[in-house]
Amino acid sequence: MDNLLEFAYRLIEENDGAVEWHDSRNGLEALLPEEVQMRLGLPEPLVVISNGISSGGGPGGIPIGFGTELLDRAIPMAMETGRSAAVRMPVPSARRQADLDPSASFSFPNAAFRPRGDHESWLDYWVWSFDVSADADERREEVHHVSVSSVGAGCLSLAEIILDQASGWDALKVRPGEITEKSLDSLFAVACDRALRQVDESLAGFKETVTRHHGRDIDRIQRYFQDMRAEMEQEIERRQLTGEELEIRREKMSQLEREEGSKLAGLKEKYRLRLTLRPVALLLARLPVRRCDILVKRRKGERQLSLVYNLLTKGFDPVVCEACGADTFSLTLCDDALHILCPACALALSSKKVCPRCQGKAPPSRVEGVLKRLGIEASKQREN
Ligand SMILES: [Zn+2]
Ligand SMILES: [Zn+2]
Repeated sequence: MDNLLEFAYRLIEENDGAVEWHDSRNGLEALLPEEVQMRLGLPEPLVVISNGISSGGGPGGIPIGFGTELLDRAIPMAMETGRSAAVRMPVPSARRQADLDPSASFSFPNAAFRPRGDHESWLDYWVWSFDVSADADERREEVHHVSVSSVGAGCLSLAEIILDQASGWDALKVRPGEITEKSLDSLFAVACDRALRQVDESLAGFKETVTRHHGRDIDRIQRYFQDMRAEMEQEIERRQLTGEELEIRREKMSQLEREEGSKLAGLKEKYRLRLTLRPVALLLARLPVRRCDILVKRRKGERQLSLVYNLLTKGFDPVVCEACGADTFSLTLCDDALHILCPACALALSSKKVCPRCQGKAPPSRVEGVLKRLGIEASKQREN
């Protein structure tokens, strides 16, 4: 799945263009209304847009990717049209706040830190809304909102607060090239990761029910086939069957076994949980924050960190584990490179004596990586 191509597809479609995927899904063909062609700065009304990675776009394929002119133009356009919006929160009136105390929110199990002062600033937060449907023998539909700061931290409780208040805030004009701090593509991967974890929690009851139904059906089928086999065994015993008659029963019994196997496989398919996440809206909220600089010391090494204090939630945003990408308030530092590790990765550090990040483990930056890490089998299908 290529999120930027998907993004382009939806943007063009929402603005009355005609779009068609290439079979390879590495590109799409678009027929653009004149205004859309102008806004996106495209040379012709009929264009091929590609992900720029493979030759799927063919000759004349215009790449959409980070740093491309097309994306620079597409983002502000998406903000003004369709199901995306950008807002700016007003600065809170109580301007002079008390000193921030990071130690009230963060812990440093193996390091010491010293505050280096803080300053007021702005930070962009992205709120993605996902339509989620879970299908097994039953169907469940939910909407999940996920908020990710543009430095890549998931701020879970923030999405609802922003959505609650954003309608009262001023619209924000996003200039081309302004969205730079971290690529939208990798932020989307973070959002998917947090959304999937959130969905996993909220579907716990649903999954329990599905598992219970599955178990009940397995029992029923196994009991049925057991009874059949027992009946035959009894008949063989009772009538002291031999020769051809015994042969026929034996054949029948192995046939039953195969039948049972295929019935159970059918059940497994019936109760397999299929999740569909469809991003349906995107909101960019520019929020006032205080950037709180600290100097972290671990043995002889030291490292500067910039913590984010969010003036909307009046609390610190979590920091992202540099090995697995989890949000964390407990920051363990590795010895060699002073990587920031969450408690789970710190456990790996203390048990194996090597830092997972130093060994090359890094947060997934693409949706495929997110799914792989969560053990979810990705399906290429998508609805348009
Ligand atoms: Zn971690
Ligand atoms: Zn390390």
